Amino acid sequence: DTSMTILDVRELVVRFGGILAVDSISFTAGAGRILGLIGPNGAGKTTLFNCLSRLCQPSSGDILFRGRSLSTVPRHRIAREGIGRTFQNVSLFDHLDVQDNVLVGGHVAGQAGFLAHTLRIRRVAREEAELRDRARELIAFMGLSGTEGRRVTDLPFPLRKRVELARALMSRPHLLLLDEPAAGLNHEEVDVLKDQIRAIRDRLGTAILLVEHHMNLVMSVSDKVVAMNFGRKIAEGLPSEIARDPEVVRTYLGAG
Ligand code: ATP
Repeated sequence: DTSMTILDVRELVVRFGGILAVDSISFTAGAGRILGLIGPNGAGKTTLFNCLSRLCQPSSGDILFRGRSLSTVPRHRIAREGIGRTFQNVSLFDHLDVQDNVLVGGHVAGQAGFLAHTLRIRRVAREEAELRDRARELIAFMGLSGTEGRRVTDLPFPLRKRVELARALMSRPHLLLLDEPAAGLNHEEVDVLKDQIRAIRDRLGTAILLVEHHMNLVMSVSDKVVAMNFGRKIAEGLPSEIARDPEVVRTYLGAG
């Protein structure tokens, strides 16, 4: 594997009182690659995710993103650092339409509107126009053309999930964190999601960290898979290797 490392998690530990939610995890993720993160409920996946978006403070260890420790990056700067995310429960601005929800993702990145008070009017206008162009491209990219003016609450759930993805991509993240994107989707919708996740990697060059219980999705899109249990890494490798790893099968895949 000659790809460049974008994310380097080093002996990360997260304690909640007496609970070791993450127990000395180390792994790397390659730039422009998809890393699947699997494990049973309570394995520590969400906690790890929250550390990556700075919603959670590690007890020890470090996370290097593009060679720099995230330990000094405040939560509100994380999008500007180049890390985007979606949530297990879709979180959009319900009173806004699709286009405005996507545009919000550009402002989070500290572009146009966010700096409006310090920039000249003409420059702001140009940046706003660029953001609108990008929003339009991403709306098309996610198969949402025609929905621009619709309130997100009027869209079916699978489309709301796509709006969330388009919004996360507005800030041109180097790394996209996807928290169970297949949850609540039917078989056909998961097939569409597979293509979209691959397209984000292949056409936008974005690295993706994918937390997912939907094994068919993880195994078919991931370049590498890390399996966790009780806060620890129990296996790491190609999807084909992980699918037949004895410990993974015993603790997770072979359940029931
Ligand atoms: P799931 O697949 O159900 O989302 P997970 O792998 O994401 O599970 P986490 O949510 O990270 O697992 O939980 C790891 C452990 O840490 C669990 O034992 C959980 O109860 C505990 N935990 C998580 N967050 C907190 C918190 N804020 N306070 C106390 N304990 C917590």
